[in-house]
Amino acid sequence: MRSRSLLLSVLALSALGGCATARGPSVAESESASRSQPTDSGSASSAAPAPEAPAAPAAPAAPAAPAASAAPEAPAAPAAQAQDPHPNPLPGGEGADALYARGVEALKVKDANAAIDSFSACTRAAPSRIDCHWELGWAYSLVNRWSDALSEWTQVQKLDPNHPDLEDALTQARGQSSLQQKLASVDSGKPAPRPAPPKNARLRIRAVGDVMLGSSFPEGLLPPDDGVASLATVAPLLRDADLTFINLEGPLCDNGETKKCRKGGNCYAFRSPTRYGKYLQDAGVDLASTANNHSGDFGELCRRETEATLDALGIRWSGPAGTVATVERNGLRIGMIAFHTSANCNYVNDTPSAAALVRSVKQNHDLVLVSFHGGAEGSKALNIPRGPEMFFGENRGNLRVFTHAVIDAGADLVLGHGPHVVRAMEFYKDRLIVYSMGNFATYGTFNLKGPQGLGMVVDVELDSQGRFRSGRILPTRQEGRGIPQPDPSGEVIPLVRRLTSEDFPDTGAIVGTDGVITPRKAIATGAE
Ligand SMILES: [Zn+2]
Repeated sequence: MRSRSLLLSVLALSALGGCATARGPSVAESESASRSQPTDSGSASSAAPAPEAPAAPAAPAAPAAPAASAAPEAPAAPAAQAQDPHPNPLPGGEGADALYARGVEALKVKDANAAIDSFSACTRAAPSRIDCHWELGWAYSLVNRWSDALSEWTQVQKLDPNHPDLEDALTQARGQSSLQQKLASVDSGKPAPRPAPPKNARLRIRAVGDVMLGSSFPEGLLPPDDGVASLATVAPLLRDADLTFINLEGPLCDNGETKKCRKGGNCYAFRSPTRYGKYLQDAGVDLASTANNHSGDFGELCRRETEATLDALGIRWSGPAGTVATVERNGLRIGMIAFHTSANCNYVNDTPSAAALVRSVKQNHDLVLVSFHGGAEGSKALNIPRGPEMFFGENRGNLRVFTHAVIDAGADLVLGHGPHVVRAMEFYKDRLIVYSMGNFATYGTFNLKGPQGLGMVVDVELDSQGRFRSGRILPTRQEGRGIPQPDPSGEVIPLVRRLTSEDFPDTGAIVGTDGVITPRKAIATGAE
């Protein structure tokens, strides 16, 4: 039984996983969701996704999806039609069925505005059509009109309080619309003046990409020594900094349930035991992103347990909409905002809100670090496309635009992850953008072949104005099922050099054969 057509499930996939509880997915969604993370898994390479390729969810969706034919399989639709005594209220006007069908056609070609027009007309013609309110909410979400989405889904709640996926849709819309409202009022207000940061203060940061030290689900995915030594050889590289950042690719909890694996087979739901948090703390981790497609793998309870575990260890985190990690080092107040291509988190795909959030954080911090989890995945996703990057029907961000927008808004360093491979580095306005740091410590079923087994600790020093001062790559690689080691052969360095020259011939960082990162033009050293 499905609450929505396959097509719409695919379109709305970006809402799955991530910072808040994943929406209770329909059968179609949970299939698509696990397919959307092929390179987290053991699939041999991104060439392998054949069985998990977009064709699988998308192709059958198209013919099956059209509203009229989908109506019989969508529980809401027949119910709504039965309740609606006036399916053709306007003489000569289009009936609600036709308007609904037109809206679905518009969504199929991702024409959100046409979909909004059709579904709105449908709700006017037949106010009790639950399916039109429901899909209108999704159409609004595609253009980040969250308060409109919220009011449509609130209407669905009135008509059918037990509608599948409703609670999670409402949570997402409430979070995003309240953040948008808050940011609108911040933007119009005058910032309180902040004291100047200490002269000559510097900040040394070390950052890595995906970290998942082992999962208690399914069985057999914990390291043999229960992870005690997993970070032993790389800990000295991580600790040697004022601030150490990781992307925590999965929750830290001992409870919760996953909805990702209801169908069995390949499924990628992670849950590291809370005791593993200590290993992160021992390795010097100060900052964690929980904005990614695995933080919600075991639901809301588990997400909260993760946050409580990190809090108890003194590791600051950012992930859900509006959350910011704040730390003080060397007299500097530093804010870290973690974004993801899901509206359950600080949202990559809403650039205006992302920029407004950075501006508001900059008002009461000296330095702002932006982390993002975005981009396609795997060994075929090494290069950064221009424009929105699609992966299994999901918009994984227009990353060149996003990164520049957050720097325009005041970000001082941008740290990317998500593709499970490293990517290029660019300078923009004297700020470094690392588009992907790759897999760092990903134990169990991750594909670690070729570039997916290579990682790096990115070492960066910023001045008190947030300007880049120095940087370098400390190469790592994973051994066995995913134990990170320093890599004296430095295999990741030529890869970053090549990708940077391919993707940013004019603005790329200069990466030396020794891994030292420098901008093309010297950065002015004005008064600090
Ligand atoms: Zn991920």
